[in-house]
Amino acid sequence: MDTGIATKCIYGNHEKFEGDRTGAISFPIYQTATYAHPAVGQSTGYDYSRLQNPTREQLEKIVASLEGGLDALAFSSGMAAITTLMEIFKPGDHIISEADLYGGSIRLFDHINQKNGIEFSRINFAEEDPENYIKENTKAIYIETPTNPMMNVIDIRKTAELAKKHNLLLIVDNTFLSPYFQRPFELGADIILHSGTKFLSGHNDTLAGFIVVNTPELSEKLRYIIKTTGAGLAPFDSWLVLRGIKTLPIRMEKAQENAQAIVEFLMQEKKVKNVYYPGIPGTNNYEVCKSQASGFGSMLTFEVESKELALHILESLKLIPFAESLGGVETLITYPTAQTHADVPEEIRIKNGITDSVLRLSAGIEDKKDLIADLKQAIDSFRE
Ligand SMILES: *Cc1c(COP(=O)(O)O)cnc(C)c1O
Repeated sequence: MDTGIATKCIYGNHEKFEGDRTGAISFPIYQTATYAHPAVGQSTGYDYSRLQNPTREQLEKIVASLEGGLDALAFSSGMAAITTLMEIFKPGDHIISEADLYGGSIRLFDHINQKNGIEFSRINFAEEDPENYIKENTKAIYIETPTNPMMNVIDIRKTAELAKKHNLLLIVDNTFLSPYFQRPFELGADIILHSGTKFLSGHNDTLAGFIVVNTPELSEKLRYIIKTTGAGLAPFDSWLVLRGIKTLPIRMEKAQENAQAIVEFLMQEKKVKNVYYPGIPGTNNYEVCKSQASGFGSMLTFEVESKELALHILESLKLIPFAESLGGVETLITYPTAQTHADVPEEIRIKNGITDSVLRLSAGIEDKKDLIADLKQAIDSFRE
């Protein structure tokens, strides 16, 4: 059955799980580490939960169906997914990545993968041509779009063409828009990553991560690595994400509507210098985002007049929590300089535009008038 994405969020590709005879509508939590064998040399298909667990598999099937991939692997966090993915590379391999990435990914590349012999070139895709950085040992291009936190949009189709031309893998971290708004395989990507902690689970209550692939070779390679290194998502956490995904479409729509209202409000505030959101018409980001995604999402970044005002806002908000993370039903605001991007070297941070007066907001699904009133009272109560 060729179903729409909202239906897939609930049923995936509608493959029946043969192991359940009760007809349970909510997929059962198989809270087991191991499985009994019928006889020597025989298996039910389930041997040990590091490798197979029905609840995790149900979640993996749904995520694969959402991205239009062949296989998805669920991990205990987004970083566990990215760490596992990096195991497909070997010492001496070179990867070109966007400079403005999730801070944890930069920390992983700089402090773990480099130590293991993987080389990185980090460039600003809006200003530089990645083709100029391709070397003999280049194996992959790694991007996020929109980027975190500066909301730069990278042309996935164009980057995929370049990757194909040079026989490189294109890896896309699709956390910010989720498959509801953006499906990188349809644009030519080879591997999709997610922090499932964010929009997919959507309730700020669990960590999770995904790698989605669309070839049997990559699936087999990564299944072998997850079995060996063991960062698969636990059964209960898999169930939480399954439950979260059921409402992905309505959460994404409502959060986007709230983000757009907040952007309009911020753009009229005199003390706000810049608003970064791909859904602002008249920008290159807007045109590219529109050409490759069906929405602009609910993440926005803004720069205020001064560091003092930024700190004042964080301390004065009454409803919106000052917290890391994003993509949940609760609107969250964070201070990238000191929180999510604190480990990014200062010169890179400043070059990327992450100054000490920049705030990042993830719109939730509350009443938008309450969110705007909260931001307004926080900005208006500032005295220089
Ligand atoms: C949060 C995040 C990650 C890391 O995921 P965790 O689940 O926190 O480990 C990776 N990429 C992006 C874009 C993120 O926002």
